[in-house]
Amino acid sequence: MIKIEDNLRSMQPIIYKQLEKTMKKNQLTHAYLFEGVSGTGKKDMALWVAASLFCQKPIDNLPCKECTSCSRVLKQVHPDVIEIAPDGLSIKVEQVRQLKAEFSKSGVEGQQKVFIIEDAEKMTAGAANSLLKFLEEPNGKAIAFLLTTAKQRLLPTILSRCQLIHFRNLSKQRLLDELEKKELSNQQSALLIHLTNSLETAILMSQDEWFIEASKIGYKWFIQIVNKKAESFIFVQTDVMPHFKERDHYLLAIDLLLLAYRDVLKTHYKVVDQLAYPQHSEQIGNIAEQFSGEKLSYSIEILLQSRKKLESNVNAQGVFEQLTLLLIRG
Ligand SMILES: [Zn+2]
Repeated sequence: MIKIEDNLRSMQPIIYKQLEKTMKKNQLTHAYLFEGVSGTGKKDMALWVAASLFCQKPIDNLPCKECTSCSRVLKQVHPDVIEIAPDGLSIKVEQVRQLKAEFSKSGVEGQQKVFIIEDAEKMTAGAANSLLKFLEEPNGKAIAFLLTTAKQRLLPTILSRCQLIHFRNLSKQRLLDELEKKELSNQQSALLIHLTNSLETAILMSQDEWFIEASKIGYKWFIQIVNKKAESFIFVQTDVMPHFKERDHYLLAIDLLLLAYRDVLKTHYKVVDQLAYPQHSEQIGNIAEQFSGEKLSYSIEILLQSRKKLESNVNAQGVFEQLTLLLIRG
């Protein structure tokens, strides 16, 4: 239980300080919008603030984290801390109505209530409007925490009624540490932190057989290209295209090549940084010795141009074949 604070303090130091100050001054507002990618501590932060409102032995208005009230809030079993999450694809108006009905009763154990709305951007217009009315009648005894990864999808009217707090992406190192806790191998984590900022997305990708195979194909393609093998051109047709089948896949294919080239460039210039492919560091070291920095930069430029082409609706196989030829030849 005590760990939650250390974790939040190191994950989101600025927000932690800001909220700590607000709690000490007893100046919490009635609606917060916590915005940021998954895995950045939004829910834990909401629970920590909520605990301060129910704590039996608060220290300077901060939660003690040890009393039964704190413990129940943090374990998400407190009857006056109500959580709403999408029912299927959306948060429906009935769910908000229920929440408001709940609100109109006095708290089960006191007057204080806390609402935590997960994926708040998934509220239907009806649900959002219904919630608006609640936010428009601020009641000193209720606080709502709206959590979202997609602020731009919330109605402006909702945004204007909440205090917005932006949760920063985790640093690559921090994300790496979190993935290690989830028992991902260093090899998996190293690649994933270069492809996403989101802890949740990284974990999902690590379990995705398609992605695991994709990353192998990407690296194999890279090796054939740097070895200037003519087969790498055929490889596009025999291995790349059958596996990478839609726009997101095409972009990932390019990103996998880009990351390998960046690893080589970093190694070439002896930049100390986490490699995307640490398991191949020796091979990458050998490649780094074979190429000039200029040639490597040129290759990266070709890949970036190819990525741009793929973002618009250009034939993927054509782009892949062309970039392979340019890279082998260059
Ligand atoms: Zn307590």
